[in-house]
Amino acid sequence: CGIVGYIGEKKAAPILLSGLKKLEYRGYDSAGIAVQEQEAVKIVKKEGKLDKLRSSAEKEIFTGGTGIGHTRWATHGKPSDLNSHPHTDSFSKIVIVHNGIIENFRELKEELLQKGHQFKSETDTEVAAHLIASYYEQTNLKEAVIKAVKKLEGSFALAVMSYTEKDRIIAVRKDSPLIVGLGENENFLASDIPAYLEHTDDFYILEDGEIADIRKDKVSIYSFNGEVITDKNKTKIDWD
Ligand code: GLU
Repeated sequence: CGIVGYIGEKKAAPILLSGLKKLEYRGYDSAGIAVQEQEAVKIVKKEGKLDKLRSSAEKEIFTGGTGIGHTRWATHGKPSDLNSHPHTDSFSKIVIVHNGIIENFRELKEELLQKGHQFKSETDTEVAAHLIASYYEQTNLKEAVIKAVKKLEGSFALAVMSYTEKDRIIAVRKDSPLIVGLGENENFLASDIPAYLEHTDDFYILEDGEIADIRKDKVSIYSFNGEVITDKNKTKIDWD
């Protein structure tokens, strides 16, 4: 299973699909991408091989330069188009991909159902989308994610986008790998370095308990407490 993300001046969709292809070795049963388009976020997701996703994606017009993608290894909810990631909340504010398991999703789902949230899938992941959306009413995307991760138990690498803050991806790492690839006026996100080694050799390797606020010309790293981490080291991949 894997996560990818792109934010920059190129078209995101082909870069997401090629990153997912490079992560195929990690295993998966379904795959999907979400791209920020002018009018809304466009999502294509399919159970089965990446070729299936690719041919569905080719029927759509993707032009946006910000997006996230996912290969799923189902843990909660059978492999299906509906249970594939990305997932959104009931009010289309938040779109999310996740690797890992949200252990306390039942309790969280119960609380959110009582607040009127309606769920579309059987996944633990969708609960995280709704939880972030519930905080997003009061604050910005990064702060909403920080609030949400304090409530989430289990293992999770997350990539989160908002329908309104279009030029931003928030990434979270807890017990599931995630790296940020650093480019010129573009940045990348992936579960593993090979996904984007053809685009850059500079990376931030996120540690457990770190959050990356990724824009095309800037990446800031925060702790789960919301404190900025100023001395994060870059890792340079040496080809020799
Ligand atoms: N637990 C999530 C699901 O079943 C994510 C699985 C994964 O890591 O791909 O949808």
